[in-house]
Amino acid sequence: MTTVVNKTAHEFDKQRLEALLSRRFFYAPAFEIYGGVAGLYDYGPPGSALQANIINEWRRHFIIEEGMHELDTTIMTPAPVFETSGHVARFADWMVKDTKTGDVLRADHLVKNVLEARLKGDLEARGQAAAPAKVDEKAKKKKKEVATTVKQLPDETVAEYEKILAQLDNYSGPDLGQLCRTHDLRNPDTGNEVGEPQLFNLMFASSIGPTGQHPGFLRPETAQGHFLNFSRLLEFNNNRIPFASAQIGRSFRNEISPRAGLLRVREFTMAEIEHFVDPLDKRHPRFKEVRDIKLGFLSATVQAEGKTNLSFITIGEAVDQQIVANETLGYFVARIYLFLVKIGIDPKRLRFRQHMANEMAHYATDCWDAEIHNSTGWTECVGCADRAAYDLTVHSNRTGHPLVVRQALSEPIITEREVPEFDKKAIGKTFGKDTGTVQKVVAELCQEDLVALKEALAKDEAQISRPDGSKIHIPSSVLKIERKTIKQNIREFTPNVIEPSFGLGRILYMLLEHNYWSRAQDVERGVLSFPPLVAPTKCLVVPLSAREEFEPLTAEVSSKLRKAGVFSRVDDSSVSIGKRYARNDELGTPFGVTIDFASLKNRTITLRERDTTDQLIGSVDEVIEVVTELVLGSLTWEGASKRLAKYEGVQDVE
Ligand code: AMP
Repeated sequence: MTTVVNKTAHEFDKQRLEALLSRRFFYAPAFEIYGGVAGLYDYGPPGSALQANIINEWRRHFIIEEGMHELDTTIMTPAPVFETSGHVARFADWMVKDTKTGDVLRADHLVKNVLEARLKGDLEARGQAAAPAKVDEKAKKKKKEVATTVKQLPDETVAEYEKILAQLDNYSGPDLGQLCRTHDLRNPDTGNEVGEPQLFNLMFASSIGPTGQHPGFLRPETAQGHFLNFSRLLEFNNNRIPFASAQIGRSFRNEISPRAGLLRVREFTMAEIEHFVDPLDKRHPRFKEVRDIKLGFLSATVQAEGKTNLSFITIGEAVDQQIVANETLGYFVARIYLFLVKIGIDPKRLRFRQHMANEMAHYATDCWDAEIHNSTGWTECVGCADRAAYDLTVHSNRTGHPLVVRQALSEPIITEREVPEFDKKAIGKTFGKDTGTVQKVVAELCQEDLVALKEALAKDEAQISRPDGSKIHIPSSVLKIERKTIKQNIREFTPNVIEPSFGLGRILYMLLEHNYWSRAQDVERGVLSFPPLVAPTKCLVVPLSAREEFEPLTAEVSSKLRKAGVFSRVDDSSVSIGKRYARNDELGTPFGVTIDFASLKNRTITLRERDTTDQLIGSVDEVIEVVTELVLGSLTWEGASKRLAKYEGVQDVE
């Protein structure tokens, strides 16, 4: 919708938004009547519809438009899969314990919260705070430091804190422990010191079957299901790459101390893409379509300098200048941006932050997070990483199942190589139980080592080392090494993976914050200005009265809207029309049609737009046609205003 609405200049009021979300049941703590569990939420009707609409658009934007292959793989996963992927050893966060109460906090969050509170207190002491922080007496009593203490800090301290915050994601556990000691960072809830950071694995452990002998985990991401099915996917794609698989599903993470509403939960819906690409050619055929899109980038180099300045350049420039590692990664960064903006994220509050060296998985080539600004600061909502060949390689090594692409070469490659060959009869007799080890060690030798071994065999002095370091003599009667000409008609390689990974709950919450406002004349009631594309309900049908004579026309309008595919709801409750509209502004319903006494006589209905509250009038069929186009996005409100007459609030009943 292009209508510019002068939304109120009121400061964003989180408490009011939260009250609205609870009142209208967008979402609520799960198991609430049992006291609730931190980090688990249930979505109510508008929240579920909003999420379903975001998912629909995600499927359209990525799966349909890019011709991706959709998957639905299991959540319960046997332990060996996550041992191989590295999650058992490394999918962990650093936690610290309050030395007196034993309460557990995430170490990096403690550092962030305490330093930010001190910086806020400093700004207030200098009289530079945007608005005096509200003194929340309850928080003040409970949280000694997060309830801001107004105190001016020396300039060097401010600079140091800002630098730490800019690099927070790059600190190891021992670094975080050191920061707590150096800056006297304590548990904000109690004011007590905290102990040394310890690693805590975030996966929920379980066991499969009645014996308890098959450990498993609830998956913390959907990605492994794509990798394990790679061979089938490749075959499905006629053995060609590049191609992408996509999956929308639940993931589970046993977060250390989730307190940030939907931003940090223990069970959430993810949408993940694994794009398999030739490691020697990471160009993308559609890159030219996105090349000129300008984005805000926060590179690792800028963060390492302790700064957070964005550079606004096109994705084409970012790839040309090697700020973003390759075209395919850049293509997805731009497509992520287009998706987020289309569903209603404010582009001015969206940036792409590069992972710093320590933060990035050791095997990854490059990684960019789409971060969205909100009342808690900048939050990662989508990760986009080039994971190189890591995942397919480790699973293939562990299972012995080749996860590779074999490509016929148009020109064969001819090479000369040293080729080892064992005497099959003699080998078993000579090496006994060591036979397998000897074959494996020799098979893994590089060309240089094979030349050396060949020379040693000629003198009957050949030796190889077992994995434990002990030596085995190889008699020259058992092994021959010869130089051969090899003609290679097939190229075999492990593809690289580019992975965009979306957390839908975080995106949904950002949409709520970015689209929430209230009218100057009624600040208590909010408006959620969702784009029609994702709005839970598209059109409200409001008969002026619940009297029987309104029923046939109300039923006709609803049925016609339904047939046109416009999701609508009738509100024939007894409260005033104004109240009914206000209620639906809170639900983010973009359009409303009113049926009044004149409608019964003239078969005209009025059409109201949520943000401007402007109204138009036309015949039932005209209005339905216009609403349908508005909802599809093929017509703007300006366009609608040219097709229908303006309604000034008085209809001629005579
Ligand atoms: P990651 O695999 O850690 O890069 O996470 C991928 C995406 O999942 C993030 O960009 C978030 O949107 C989302 N996410 C990760 N952890 C959580 C969580 N505890 N609660 C909600 N969303 C999460």
